[in-house]
Amino acid sequence: MATNILVTGGAGYIGSHTCKALKAAGFTPVTYDNMVYGHDWAVKWGPLVRGDILSRGSLDEVFAEYKPAAVLHFAAFAYVGESVTDPEKYYRNNVAGSLSLLSAMRKSGCKHIVFSSTCATYGAPERVPLTEDHPTRPMSPYGTTKLMIEQMLKDFEAAYGIGYTALRYFNAAGADPEGLIGEDHDPETHLIPLVIAAGLGRRPQVEIFGTDYPTPDGTAVRDYIHVTDLAEAHILAVQKLLDGGPSATYNLGTGTGNSVREVIRAVEKVSGQPVPVVEGPRRAGDSPGLYADSGAIIRELGWKPRYMDLDAIVETAWRWHQSHVPGKMVCNIRTPG
Ligand code: UDP
Repeated sequence: MATNILVTGGAGYIGSHTCKALKAAGFTPVTYDNMVYGHDWAVKWGPLVRGDILSRGSLDEVFAEYKPAAVLHFAAFAYVGESVTDPEKYYRNNVAGSLSLLSAMRKSGCKHIVFSSTCATYGAPERVPLTEDHPTRPMSPYGTTKLMIEQMLKDFEAAYGIGYTALRYFNAAGADPEGLIGEDHDPETHLIPLVIAAGLGRRPQVEIFGTDYPTPDGTAVRDYIHVTDLAEAHILAVQKLLDGGPSATYNLGTGTGNSVREVIRAVEKVSGQPVPVVEGPRRAGDSPGLYADSGAIIRELGWKPRYMDLDAIVETAWRWHQSHVPGKMVCNIRTPG
């Protein structure tokens, strides 16, 4: 029988792509999701258990029923701006929720966890590309919650022997190359889906947040990493932990920075359609340039990102958004083989 892996937040964007990769690697992903932001249609590769990470009772039941060998922990609120205006929501769900999850793992004897962390743990970069030893001074409660969870993982490992891998994602982007799942946030705040929505005429325009950054074209630079490459990194990380490998914290990015204008041009190229653009002021809290040095996970886990090119990432996202209206059921859905 296939080994069960508990995937909190498995009905969300990165979680669902990782469930697909888990299934392909021979595991059974058991999605545990409160469905606040998750989608039923995104859960295709294993059972869905509706539950909240803050509910110890439900967690204890799911651990008892499925006896997962490891946990992949995606469940979190992730709107940076909202975390500033409503930090309580973020500390409760992200920090207290993760404590509840770790406590349930302890009780059930589950000893391995892969955690969705973020480059927002670094804060304003002192140097780029960012390496894992860069100082961590998050600039939002969201980033702080993720850093606090990383600290909990270190302490739980030292005291209780729960091994962890913390993966600090840069800008997750793109969609399943087979078109079965993709990105659908409500509200949507991320650049690539917003540019695509403007290209498809679903939004009147996209606003560029800042054109006076000290970057080659004046717009902010980010490291866009394909969601399938992120998913693969989780498989390598969980396999390493199950094989007795050490705990670790890794960056996940391509190492290439792309500006907002480059993203807009990529969408125009891939779609063959012009994107209506307006230039606006900087968004509070944004960094001029963030990109990763992902050498550690490449060396230590043999991670090989396939989508090193922005056009290729955008192409998968464009195909997904063409066939999928956000918030609506997928219309051209195929069942997975
Ligand atoms: N951005 C933009 N217009 C938008 C949304 C985002 O110019 O409508 C910029 C944002 O300022 C940042 C980049 O696009 O420089 C990526 O933003 P996103 O919110 O996708 O990810 P973040 O890097 O903030 O996590």
